[in-house]
Order: sequence, then structure tokens, then C-alpha cells
Amino acid sequence: MNNDWQPKTRLVHAGSRRSQYNEVSEAIFLTQGFVYKTAEQAEARFIELGEDEFIYARYGNPTVRMFEERIAALEGAEDAFATASGMAAVSGALFSALKAGDHVVCSKALFGSCLYVAETLLRRFGVEVTFVDGTDLAAWKTAVRKDTRLCFVEAISNPTLEVIDIQSVAAIAHAAGALLVVDAVFSTPIFQRNLELGADVVIYSATKHIDGGGRCLGGVVLGSRDFIRKTLEPYLKHTGGALSPFNAWVMLKGLETLDLRCNAAADTALMLATALEGHEKLLRAIYPTLPSHPEQALAARQMTKGGTVLSLDLKGGKPAAFRFLNALKIVKISNNLGDAKSLVTHPATTTHQRLSPAQRSELGISDGLVRLSVGLEDGSDLLHDLVGAINVC
Ligand SMILES: *Cc1c(COP(=O)(O)O)cnc(C)c1O
Repeated sequence: MNNDWQPKTRLVHAGSRRSQYNEVSEAIFLTQGFVYKTAEQAEARFIELGEDEFIYARYGNPTVRMFEERIAALEGAEDAFATASGMAAVSGALFSALKAGDHVVCSKALFGSCLYVAETLLRRFGVEVTFVDGTDLAAWKTAVRKDTRLCFVEAISNPTLEVIDIQSVAAIAHAAGALLVVDAVFSTPIFQRNLELGADVVIYSATKHIDGGGRCLGGVVLGSRDFIRKTLEPYLKHTGGALSPFNAWVMLKGLETLDLRCNAAADTALMLATALEGHEKLLRAIYPTLPSHPEQALAARQMTKGGTVLSLDLKGGKPAAFRFLNALKIVKISNNLGDAKSLVTHPATTTHQRLSPAQRSELGISDGLVRLSVGLEDGSDLLHDLVGAINVC
């Protein structure tokens, strides 16, 4: 890859490997295994793998490698390992880096499955976990100790869209000798450079914006060559969280249009949040770069755009939220995000149903809160759909 390339060029060309046919579009190498010319060659590959050498798809595959190299080039990461889902990436990064007796600090506003891994599974294996309010730097300083091995945050929390100060949390983690692992789904690979801000490891659920069409599950972990090859790879290749070559190909092609799609959706999201804020049926509209957002200055410093998701808090609680969802015509009810189709969900009764009412209120997830993942439809059609639904609720 040419290091001078700008991000948009990297998204189209980085990591390409062509077969003897010189195909234009990347090939899908839908194969589990690889044939060796001689027994000596097989022996040599099991001792050390060269650049373009593979032995088994659980360890690596040419199409998967193209996806890994392309996203690593975009992020400026030394290396990447692709996984079967976002959760295989999160659990792989955490379990490979930790052992019994280690201490971990996590922000408490986590995606439900991330919360289960941290709160239940890590503790079951003897890791001590402390939860903090991710926006409270004093709380991070108090929680981090000499034996803290790792800090884990979601760059922007779901569904209340709190913005975490990655640079400051990285400084606190590093002062204690801990790694900062960032789940960056909501900041997307386009709007925030988490590695440059000081994160050691960045994780994406490729299921979201990278696929962008709601087709495949996938994930990826990015970091130093040392972390990816020495810590993560031995764990993942033996526990089986490998990405399917077909899904890797979908993600690879998704990267080609990622910048265009994320920018279009974020422009529409900001337009919608701005237009809807102050509506008489709303307590608040939440979007990271709105002037009313508590971390707006941080978001403006840390992000080029505020992302593709906004949340609306409806005055009438759950009945109003349900009337709103049911009245939408273009926007579909679904708990996924990052799709070309605009999707809306009511977190209190779906993604965050498992939490107690007290936990939900601590996280600001009220009964009237709805989360909107903005897609690629025409902005004026979406505004019309949303205003029409708000007016009946
Ligand atoms: C969706 C999501 C995940 C999990 O990704 P899957 O691909 O569904 O396994 C993890 N973290 C965040 C923030 C997510 O939005």
C-alpha cells in the first residue's frame, strides 16, 4: 500500500490481492484449506507463515486478509484480525488480554452483550471489574489502580450518545500501565481516529456501518502488530471466532463506499436532530454535535461529524414512544443500526429490557427514549415521516 494515500483511496484499494487472473473486483476465496506443493512446504508453513501464505481459514484466508489490511490501512493500525461478529471481537480482545486476578475498569453505559461479558463472564473467570460513569474523568482516576490491566469503553454510548474523552481516558489508563480498548461502532471508522487519540485497541462490529446493508455479521480488532499477532491471534485462531470468507468479501466491498455512506447519513442525522429539537412533544433530542449536548465541545474536537445515530426523548413515556414507532412509514422498527435503511428502536423494551428500572434510569434510558439509526433515504422524506409520527404521539 502507498502510505501517502488519503483515507478514501485506502478504502477502495488498500489490501487488494489479485490472483493470476488479475480480476478487478476482489475474489472470494471460499476455501477452508490450502494445498501444499510438497511435504517440505507444509512443514515450513507450520514453522512460520510468510506474507501470502495460509494454512487454514480459522487462522487466515486471502479474502479475510484483504478486509483486515484495508480496515487497518484506514485506521492507521499496524495490524487487524477479523472475527465472526462484533461480540467475537470484543470477547476475543478482552479474554486474550486478561487473566484471573487482573483488574478492569469499564464505562457502565455498555452494549448489552458487552455488559454481559464484562459483568458476568470476566468475573466468573476471576477478573475484578469496576464500572464508572465514562464521562467522569475523576471517576476513572479513582477507579484505576496499579493492578489495572485494561480499560474498556464504547466511544459513544448507546443509546444516550454520551461522548467519552478518549485522549484523557487513554492518559489515565497508560499512567497505570493499562491498555485502553475502545468499541468504536458509534463513532464509526470515518469520524473519529481512536488510535491517534491514544487507544491501544479499537474494535468494530462490522455488522453495522461496514456492511451497511444489514446482510452479514462480522467484526474486527485493530492494534499494534504485537497485540494482534502475539496476544489476540493465538486466542482467536484456537477458539474459532474466524470471519467467513464470504462475509469478509461483503465487508471488503462495504469499505469501498463507507466514507460516502457515513457522511451522507451523518449529514441527515444532524439535519433531523436540529429540525426536531424543541418540538413540543419532545423532552430532548440527543446528537453529539448539537449545541445542547453536554459534551458538544468534546465531540467537536474529537469527531469530524457526530455519527449516524440520534435519540429522541418523547414526553409521553412508553405509550407515546410506541405510538411514534407504530406511526412511522419509512423508518423501520429494528434494533440494528448502521444500515442503508433508517431503523428505530425503543431501548427500554428491547436492547435494554434486561436491565432493572433503576439501572435504566441511572443510564438515562427513560421510557420515552427512542433511538434512530439514520439511513440513506432522502432527508426531507425522513423529516416528514418523523414529524408526522411525533404529531400523533
Ligand atoms: C452491535 C454492537 C456490538 C456487537 O456486534 P455484533 O456484530 O452484533 O456481534 C458490540 N458493540 C456495539 C457498540 C454494538 O453496537
